[in-house]
Order: sequence, then C-alpha cells, then structure tokens
Amino acid sequence: MNYDRFFADALGRLHDERRYRVFAELERVAGRFPHAIWHTPQGPRDVVIWCSNDYLGMGQHPKVIGAMVETATRMGTGAGGTRNIAGTNFPLVALERELADLHGKDSALVFTSGYVSNETGISTIARLIPNCLILSDAYNHNSMIAGIRNAGCDKQIFRHNDMAHLEELLIAAGDRPKLIAFESIYSMDGDVGPINTICDLAERYGALTYLDEVHAVGMYGPRGAGIAERDGAMHRVDVIEGTLGKAFGALGGYIAANSTLCDAVRSYAPGFIFTTALPPAVCAAATAAIRHLKTSTWERERHQDRAARLKSVLTMAGLPVMETPTHIVPVMVGDAEKCKAASDLLLNEHGIYIQPINYPTVPAGTERLRIAPSPYHDDGLIDALAGAMVDVWEKLGMPLKQRSLAAE
Ligand code: PLP
Repeated sequence: MNYDRFFADALGRLHDERRYRVFAELERVAGRFPHAIWHTPQGPRDVVIWCSNDYLGMGQHPKVIGAMVETATRMGTGAGGTRNIAGTNFPLVALERELADLHGKDSALVFTSGYVSNETGISTIARLIPNCLILSDAYNHNSMIAGIRNAGCDKQIFRHNDMAHLEELLIAAGDRPKLIAFESIYSMDGDVGPINTICDLAERYGALTYLDEVHAVGMYGPRGAGIAERDGAMHRVDVIEGTLGKAFGALGGYIAANSTLCDAVRSYAPGFIFTTALPPAVCAAATAAIRHLKTSTWERERHQDRAARLKSVLTMAGLPVMETPTHIVPVMVGDAEKCKAASDLLLNEHGIYIQPINYPTVPAGTERLRIAPSPYHDDGLIDALAGAMVDVWEKLGMPLKQRSLAAE
C-alpha cells in the first residue's frame, strides 16, 4: 500500500482548485509594528503587515511584553500539566477573574485557544442540556461549527443575521431547550450581529445565548469587552466567548458566564480537562493587555480612526472596498487566482503583506483581500498601500471605479 499517494492526491486536489496555501515566513519586530522581516529564499526583506489580527498592536506593548518576561523569569515557561494535574497556576486564575470582571459575569474559564473554547465549550454546554436544539447563524466560524457537530444534538441553521428566520425556527422548535450560537463581528465580511434583537427572541422563546466576540474584544465597548458591551447587551447574553490571541496580543480563549455554567464546563469539557494549561507568562501577558485596555481608550479611538481613513483612501482610489461598520476592510477580488496573484504582487513588488482569502474561508467567487489596519498604520503607510493596490489592480486587468465616481 502506498499511503503517501493518498496525501499527494489530496494536495493535488487543493492545487487544482487553487486552494493550496502558502505561508510567508515573517519575523515581527517589536517596537516597529506593523513592520516585519520577510525571510525569502533570496534573504531577508523589510515588509509591512496589513492583515494581522493583533488588531491593536498589543503584542508589542511594553506592559504586555514586560508582564510576560517578568512572569517567565519568576515562574519558568510551561504550565506543567493539565489544569487538574499541575497546570492551575496563579496567573491563570487571576486572568479568569479579570475576564469575569471584563464581561460582568460571575465566572470565566480559559482554554488554550479561541478555537478550543468554541469547540469544547459549545459541545459541552449542549450535551449537558437534554434534548437541546442548537440554532446557528449560517456564517458562524469553523470552531463553532465543530462544537455544534461534536455536541451530537439537533441543529438548525438560520440565514445570516436574518431575525425573521431565527424566530420562525424558534417557534417551530416549541418548548424544547434551545441554544442560539452567533457572533458579534463576522470577520470575513466585517458586519455585526444584532445582539439585542437575538436576546429579545431568546427571552421570548426561552433560549440560551452563546456569543462569539473574538473579533470585538479589546476593540469595542467603553472597557473593551466587545460589541455586547457597546450595545448595552452584555448582561443579557448567557455565554460570551472570546480570544486572547487577537486584540489582547497573547494566546488562548475563554468563556465568561454564570458560575454554575462555567463550573459544569470545567468539570465536563474534554478540551479543558485533557490538555496542558496555558503557561503562566502567557496568562500574565493577556491580563496586562486586558487591564490596560479596560482604561486606555487611545488604542480603540486610533484604531477606528485608521479604519475610517483607510476605507476612505482606498475608496477614493477606485478600489472595490466592501462597506463595513467595523475595523475590518475587505476588498473584493472575486476570483481565486487573481486574489492569490494580487497578494503575491503586493508582497514581491511592494513589500506589503496581505494574505489572500479564498474558498472555503469565503464562498467561491467572493475571494478577497481582507485588510486589518492597526493604530500604528500611519497616513504614509495608508497612502503607500492605496498606490500599491492600484498598481496591482492595473497589472492584473481588474476594474477600478472612476476616481470621481468613487469619491461620491
Ligand atoms: N471565533 C472566530 C469568529 C474566529 O475568527 C476565530 C479565529 O480566527 C476563532 C474563534 C478562534 O480563535 P483563536 O484564534 O483564538 O483560536
């Protein structure tokens, strides 16, 4: 039996479908974000990163780096085991308290990533509810879909952000237990879920709510707790899930909820029980970022300012910017090969790194460049990006809107 052939064939299929992923080898430079070194076969090159989910640059904040170094120096590197065995370290407990406070909940539970928190969190919650029906937004992230699959219970998908459809499904479900799973910011389109309306429906039809705030925590709300905080809905959502790996600049994920629910997940979730805990230094770094962003609004304000300026400059240049009410700036390409070619040209000819977003992350025919500005992308970098993208669009024969029309 030639087992390697199976793998080679699988890779061949990805190549045929233009879905084979190539990663750029980057070295971020603390203190110079968003500049980085790209290690090419020809040697190192200076590039500007325009697609990092370290949205606020907190991964290079002196307080965050300081907390990580100081804690690693005192406590060493790894956690030493699962939470049950030796992994419940003091910085991890302090982090959970910080998160519970951030979201105004009794309790929080930290996992090794946002992916794991969704996968093991949703499946465990749903398995503990007899005869549970999960109602899931059609655009939910892969980690939520994995959690829903692993729950093994009935599920129904409601059309993205379609409240009439969700209500229809809630009515049809009758009085069985129901869990509504949705996101606050959908990261590929940059649009926002109607949290208060979903909570209204959940209250009316007796459903539990599970909200993924991965692309919002740190960046929205007066203390950086997310869109639910901004919209005054935080106390209405039963379970808030977030990541420590994006705007908080570290690694890990969590849920925040009432203490009974968190304790049940702690006690039953395989993805919590059977894996090594986060290292103390990572927890301390995340805590430092959360604490800083609870009181500092400079990062949030500057982030929104940069996103607005970027959208306006790219639109004025005639580029097909998708309208979003958030910091996410997708530019539509609509073709897998051209999307990859645009990304390659930006990197090779202009030293600008923007990963192409192709199927299955987005539906085929809606391939795009997803741009994520940070507080540290200044006017000069924005203008350089617009110039480079116009050049790439022209080289690839992709249409640009008339500048005068685009400005309208
Ligand atoms: N939820 C959403 C909506 C995401 O986009 C992602 C990752 O990009 C995750 C969860 C997983 O979070 P993490 O990167 O911390 O694993």
